[in-house]
Amino acid sequence: MKPFKWKVSEILKAADGELLCGDSEMVFLKISIDSRNIESKDFFAAIKGHNHDGHKFAEDAVKKGIRGLMINRDKVNELPWEQWKNAGIACIVVKDTIHALGSLGRFNLNRSSARTAAITGSNGKTTTRVMCSAIVEQRFNTLSTYGNYNNEIGLPLTLFNLGPEHEWAVLELGMNHAGEIKRLADICQPEIGIITNIGPAHIGELGSMDAVMYAKGELLQGLKPGGTAVLNADDPRTLKLAENLPHPVVFFGLSDKAGIKADCIKEHQVKESLAGVSFNLNLNKDQVQVNLRAQGRFMISNALAAAAAGSIMGISIQDIKAGLESFKPVKGRMNILKTQKGIILIDDTYNANPESMKSAITAFHKLKQDGKRNILVIGDMFELGEHAESMHKEIGEEAAKTGVSKLFVSGSFSGYVAQGAIKNHMDSKDIFQGSVQDIIQELKNILLPNDQVLVKGSRGMAMERVVNSIREWA
Ligand code: ATP
Ligand code: MG
Repeated sequence: MKPFKWKVSEILKAADGELLCGDSEMVFLKISIDSRNIESKDFFAAIKGHNHDGHKFAEDAVKKGIRGLMINRDKVNELPWEQWKNAGIACIVVKDTIHALGSLGRFNLNRSSARTAAITGSNGKTTTRVMCSAIVEQRFNTLSTYGNYNNEIGLPLTLFNLGPEHEWAVLELGMNHAGEIKRLADICQPEIGIITNIGPAHIGELGSMDAVMYAKGELLQGLKPGGTAVLNADDPRTLKLAENLPHPVVFFGLSDKAGIKADCIKEHQVKESLAGVSFNLNLNKDQVQVNLRAQGRFMISNALAAAAAGSIMGISIQDIKAGLESFKPVKGRMNILKTQKGIILIDDTYNANPESMKSAITAFHKLKQDGKRNILVIGDMFELGEHAESMHKEIGEEAAKTGVSKLFVSGSFSGYVAQGAIKNHMDSKDIFQGSVQDIIQELKNILLPNDQVLVKGSRGMAMERVVNSIREWA
């Protein structure tokens, strides 16, 4: 990989900055926002994030040998730029370094020849992104979002890795407030815009489902002229977004409206097992069987979205199959682990919201084996605002409906999950409410070989503590 170099004059122009001191002909190898692992030929952009303000580390970066920086205008008087001037260091001032970072990401994209596919939605963005990259890599030199780098800071950092060799970039766009996707789309100018689905994640911040829908819809407004939307035919909200759209739309899903579908997804035809799900992929007029190494029917939906993007790029159905079959589940997303004592752990601890929780519980139910116990361990779902109580109750109801043998709940809203389960006739003796540590202790007492345990909760609950502990002693 040979990323492009950065000349100060280019940074100034792209970021709409002003050169406080230094030489506009200076050249840097890469842009970094982290003073801890910065290298002397890098350019340091001081970013004010949620936890840290990079401006506090600007002097450290200079001590490490950094010769160029970008800072916020309102920090100029707090920093020793006169000293930097005397030392021949280039210092660029901008109104807002986060905004400038995005503009630099767009500049880097524009000087590459890469085309972009962007993925947003309430659930399955990372999974779809990994599946889509696996497909695109079959034919093209591909850059893919690293980890979950999907916001105003992460997206530009991903785009900084683009070099002259890249043909496509497959990017994840995340959001928790209105206007965010608009800006991200503006940065990455997608030719293909995928919305996986629209559910109540972040409803606390946005206020209503319509507001969530319009926030995701910003991706479609930001499509490049001539771009294509890839939308979920089974989701009424994405269908609504497709109305009056000035772009062609490729639908994926199960309904007749879908051009890319798994049309044999009827109960008896879909094979689900611990090894994964198999389905027939119908791509326009071609058909092929795909064996996914992933659990849960929702994975088929993610695979269809990825296949749709691949087909728009002109990738053959055989290459799409090969890409999808090379997919391995991303850490913390429905990972199946077997302990030494024969307990099957399903680690879905990466994150949770009402939709993904319900999908995971349904998938868990499908995996139930006769005579074996299904044990559900769940932590709170965050960011639901006034809907939190009712949505936690619904999860309890769902758990009871699918007949889990035992339910372990933790977090501020765990009482509502328990209430919901009891409402649907689960015996309160089978419900355990407590801290994560209490739950671990109780699981030590009751877990038996052949039990299947699904663990899930919002990121802040760090439910992987349960998974890690069970793996140590079971
Ligand atoms: P984040 O917003 O946290 O970045 P994401 O949209 O990238 O999440 P993934 O990381 O792919 O989503 O998956 C997170 C969880 O969502 C999975 O563990 C799984 O439970 C669930 N999930 C994945 N795909 C779907 C889907 N299509 N429908 C419902 N739930 C899904
Ligand atoms: Mg993600």
